Amino acid sequence: MKVHILLGPPGCGKGTQAKRLVEKRSLIHLSTGDILRDAVSKGTEVGLRAKALMASGKLVDDSTVNGIVFARLQDETGDVLFDGYPRTLFQAESLQTFLSSQGITLGFVMDIEIQEQELEARVVNRRVCGNNTCGAIYNLNTKAPRVDGVCDLCGGNLKHRADDTTEAFRIRMVEFNKTFQPLQAFYKGMSNYRYVEGSRPPDQIHDQLVKLFQEQA
Ligand code: ADP
Repeated sequence: MKVHILLGPPGCGKGTQAKRLVEKRSLIHLSTGDILRDAVSKGTEVGLRAKALMASGKLVDDSTVNGIVFARLQDETGDVLFDGYPRTLFQAESLQTFLSSQGITLGFVMDIEIQEQELEARVVNRRVCGNNTCGAIYNLNTKAPRVDGVCDLCGGNLKHRADDTTEAFRIRMVEFNKTFQPLQAFYKGMSNYRYVEGSRPPDQIHDQLVKLFQEQA
């Protein structure tokens, strides 16, 4: 079993790329954002704690997120693709300790980098399918649905995430800029770290990531 990691700021395309990659490779997509949103919508104890933090754009505390992730990893046997985790140096170090203790290998760390000024427009125009089993991602500027508010793939209602507003996005960027540098430095020296230029069209990024996995096979 291996775990692969997607790094990068909010709106860089982690979710889009993760969804496409798991269709091609047999990987389990673990998005801590999706898991937390699900907890919020179900009103679980974690969800109640996370709700206001997430809506405002703040990070959920490390021990809550680590707890969710480690519990999930203990249940999985296949290779995993993380999207949105780890997000702090503490999470990265805790993950590393957990992986060593379980004999799980760290696979690729794919760092999708993009100019900050491109991100806000991507995020505020993002719409996501509210149907949990679909979760397709649209953008009103660059990838609009055929029918307003309706998912092309499953007919589900498209939603505007509570934190995809200009205000929350700016707080998310502050959080990102506070935590990212040490996180990136932690992985950058490793041989499986890969830089990915994130301002290119999604197809090109997808091709690069698929190639990476093919080369490894
Ligand atoms: P994005 O990457 O576009 O910001 P996500 O869906 O990954 O969106 O995350 C949404 C929110 O969920 C974050 O702003 C944060 O509140 C919470 N969250 C997700 N993953 C983590 C994490 N690893 N650590 C702390 N908070 C997290």
